[in-house]
Amino acid sequence: MKSTGKVIGIVSNLVTVETTGPVAENELCHIRLGGTDLLAEVIKVTGNRASVQVFESTRGLRNGDSVEFLGKMLEATLGPGLLESSYDGLQNDLTTMEGVFLKRGEYTDPLDHKKIWDFTPLAKPGDTVCAADWLGSVKEGWLDHKIMVPFSFKGTYTVKEVAPAGQYNIDHVIAVLKDEEGADVNVTMVQKWPVKVAIKGYKEKPRPQKIMETGVRVIDSFNPIAEGGTGFIPGPFGCGKTVLQHAIAKQGECDIVVMAACGERANEVVEIFTEYPELIDPHTGRKLIERTVIICNTSNMPVAAREASVYTAMTICEYYRAMGHRCLLLADSTSRWAQALREMSNRMEELPGADAFPVDLSAIISNFYARAGMVVLNNGQTGSVTFIGTVSPAGGNLKEPVTEGTKKAARCFYALEQNRADQKRYPAVNPIDSYSKYLEYPEIQAFLEQKFERGWVEKVLKAKNLVRRGKEMADQINILGDDGVPMSYHETFWKSELIDFAFLQQDAFDAIDAVCPLERQKFMLNLILGICDRSFEFEDYEKCREYFKKVINCLRQMNYSEWQSESFNSYREQLNQLLS
Ligand code: ADP
Ligand code: MG
Repeated sequence: MKSTGKVIGIVSNLVTVETTGPVAENELCHIRLGGTDLLAEVIKVTGNRASVQVFESTRGLRNGDSVEFLGKMLEATLGPGLLESSYDGLQNDLTTMEGVFLKRGEYTDPLDHKKIWDFTPLAKPGDTVCAADWLGSVKEGWLDHKIMVPFSFKGTYTVKEVAPAGQYNIDHVIAVLKDEEGADVNVTMVQKWPVKVAIKGYKEKPRPQKIMETGVRVIDSFNPIAEGGTGFIPGPFGCGKTVLQHAIAKQGECDIVVMAACGERANEVVEIFTEYPELIDPHTGRKLIERTVIICNTSNMPVAAREASVYTAMTICEYYRAMGHRCLLLADSTSRWAQALREMSNRMEELPGADAFPVDLSAIISNFYARAGMVVLNNGQTGSVTFIGTVSPAGGNLKEPVTEGTKKAARCFYALEQNRADQKRYPAVNPIDSYSKYLEYPEIQAFLEQKFERGWVEKVLKAKNLVRRGKEMADQINILGDDGVPMSYHETFWKSELIDFAFLQQDAFDAIDAVCPLERQKFMLNLILGICDRSFEFEDYEKCREYFKKVINCLRQMNYSEWQSESFNSYREQLNQLLS
């Protein structure tokens, strides 16, 4: 029997309910308001009192209004048709709303029940299966969308029937399974899963083995992110977080992209809807949106719904991972998510942690990041969820709790720096503070050496070191003056500038420079390190500066020219002349 209750307290979206029976943390409930049901989630239970956060406006709600607990948690609806969709955190379809907001208490269906899919069976009668095993497949765009044994099924089942190849809608029973007691269970193409619980249904989660190519030099060469890895991009407003994330979304080597836009300013959300559908996928030449799901918070949404969006996005990624796909989850910005947590915890008058965030903020962030990863499925194939979140620390203060908590959880750190952004050194990723812990993994090192060349990791470390020394030299020159330091200081400084200008900086809006394939990255870094290996012995620092400016200019022109084209080669010749 489901529990019921009545409203006894209201603080904005936080409602206190006196309950008649047991309720569970994260359980959903309906609060009856007039003729509609407001959806809410239990966030705290003490005795016969439950604190619930309502996903909509609570205007007009009164003490004594009745509450019905639903006996289930907030769930995502999973099935063919997720791709190309735009949802809010509760998976309401934003495209069908066309700017008109839902009425209170109304929810749209996330999937189209009429659409017909081309089904191919993958299992046969007599097979023994368990949760997440593949029963069949439909074509979603050009991707294989596997129809799986629902993740909630426990134990093993025997396949009794599988629908023959044919055209069905998502509600069609595509398989009948027999459970361990011999009872029949029907499986359709749709299943539900509670968003705050990680989807299991895989054999193991090994350490990452490969990198995910992004075409961004400062990432792939300097701080590579693993396929199934985690990274974060902190940076003050206007430093290029969104531009960098969009570049990764466009260029990242993956099958599926899920963009979670969490409560950023409204105009940015509009930008996503207008720009994103136009983007062309450089891997396939098709529209990027065909393999993308957008989860978006409209600014009129209460905090609770904002908090749900990152979980819904992660759940959709895990769903596609279980089909053997490589998924990329991008959340912009996770700070808004943390702020939603803070608002709720403050309203509950919990003992606050640092900066009034909940005391367990760091654990919440870590648990979320831990859901990413590369997995080996029951059938031996692999799938992955790579997660990159942005953080917008107030005032660019990297010591604030969300940045610190995320730093513990994520393995790549791409620190965007105001100073670099001001100098238009884009992407403004600080080359000294940023890191990728994957560079230290032997598996990844071996992969890089094979993908780039032998000795690659050492080369990267050498380049990083030169950049660091260049910074030290710049400080010395600043203090002692151009004439107060030995010539070698100038030379080292300019070598580091060479790496910065010709390699680390990359124009996200240049047709050619926006995407830099690994082969080209390797060529450029070798070329640059070759120059850095020389010792020049300039007569004076002016000559040194003049010379390096010419070299930098030439190399940048190469970056903007089609790889190995005529113009590229002519700049290469120019460079050879400069160097001889
Ligand atoms: P944030 O999301 O951190 O507030 P944005 O991503 O919106 O910042 O970037 C702000 C501006 O910085 C962009 O509109 C663009 O002009 C510039 N910018 C950022 N990254 C690059 C880049 N890689 N190449 C060229 N311009 C960039
Ligand atoms: Mg932004």
